[in-house]
Amino acid sequence: MAAEPLPNAPPPRLETRHLVLRPWTADDAPALRHVVLHNLGHLQAWMPWATPEAHERVVEVAERLRGFAADFAAGRDWSYVMLDRVDGALVGAVGLHRRGGPDALEIGYWIRADRSGRGLVTEAVTALADAVFETCDVARLEIRCDPRNERSAAVARRAGFRHVTTLHGDTRATGEPRDTMVWERQRETPRAAPAPCRFDVVALDADDTLWHNETLFTATQTRFRELLAPYHDIEHIDRRLYETETRNLRHFGYGVKGFTLSMIETAIELTEARIGGAEIRQILDLGREMLSAPVELLDGVAETVETLAESYRLVLVTKGDLFDQESKLARSRVGDRFSAVEIVSEKDARTYAAVMARQRVEPARFVMVGNSLRSDVLPVLEAGGAAVYIPYHVTWAHERVDDVALAGRVFAQLESIRDLPAWLAHA
Ligand SMILES: [Mg+2]
Repeated sequence: MAAEPLPNAPPPRLETRHLVLRPWTADDAPALRHVVLHNLGHLQAWMPWATPEAHERVVEVAERLRGFAADFAAGRDWSYVMLDRVDGALVGAVGLHRRGGPDALEIGYWIRADRSGRGLVTEAVTALADAVFETCDVARLEIRCDPRNERSAAVARRAGFRHVTTLHGDTRATGEPRDTMVWERQRETPRAAPAPCRFDVVALDADDTLWHNETLFTATQTRFRELLAPYHDIEHIDRRLYETETRNLRHFGYGVKGFTLSMIETAIELTEARIGGAEIRQILDLGREMLSAPVELLDGVAETVETLAESYRLVLVTKGDLFDQESKLARSRVGDRFSAVEIVSEKDARTYAAVMARQRVEPARFVMVGNSLRSDVLPVLEAGGAAVYIPYHVTWAHERVDDVALAGRVFAQLESIRDLPAWLAHA
């Protein structure tokens, strides 16, 4: 993609406490060749370019560096060599690249093994980011890294970048689908108004996205186990309950009532009908307690829903029992921020297509946010919408999906619903 040169270029030289950053020249070729060839194992884990073949011949390395210098001079791309301020040794590199949108630059970096772990990259990235915001007309800087590259993520964090999303199935870095963490630092006072968002409808899941739910089921299941402990071991009880629940979904649907009936059925089966009326009553009480348990919003939900409602049409899309879900929504204090509530019996692609049709929104302008890959992410993508996955710390076995189902699927992952407004603004 050819980009217009930036009106204000990043600085040609930066000095920090321990480093000098300047554009590469062809004269750096022997030193660069030496460093790369002596750090192959260290660099190759994350840098696909660090191959012995590409660094065998000094003339070829020099040619590449001339290209970097030409791009720097023309305002297309800015690669800096990182030098030790005292002894002038080549310790690594840092670069600014025009990716991530018209108003953004991406920062990349590497350092040789024997100089890593001393905060030098953080020092370089912080200085460069400060300089860019001072001189260039960009609204934000990005750092992208593999989630397994903990050192790189630590640099982003220490340099004041915020983790905004993790892209799944991203093929940009190597051509192979992989996960990519996206970190961002924004200009403190944005110079340009944000671009209009690509979504009209933000649909939100309810259980374990807006309020705690699975923890309630887990706690109840613990008490159910105690009740049946005289008859069977825990693993057996859990497995049979899960089998009964799954079998009963098509009769009773999702939710507390179906779960309660499944507990009763499991208890009768596991005790070979020896369970008494008093114990059945205890199970019914467990169900009743679940239905009347206070609605506990997840951290950040109240404020975020409030903020989102100012810019988007919010639709609640949830499985489960109509009566129970409506009652929870009414008690949740966020109910009146939603322009529509869709309580559905199953979350599959057909259901989402029907929701989009009823809400009169194009699939491309619909984004679903939820804690279940199986229910809130995969079927939405299949229906042509976008999806944001915000994991909850407990996942019901029925909602788990294997990696095969996720291969090639592109969706965002956020740590907290608090990060949703920023993600939407840049989506
Ligand atoms: Mg959920």
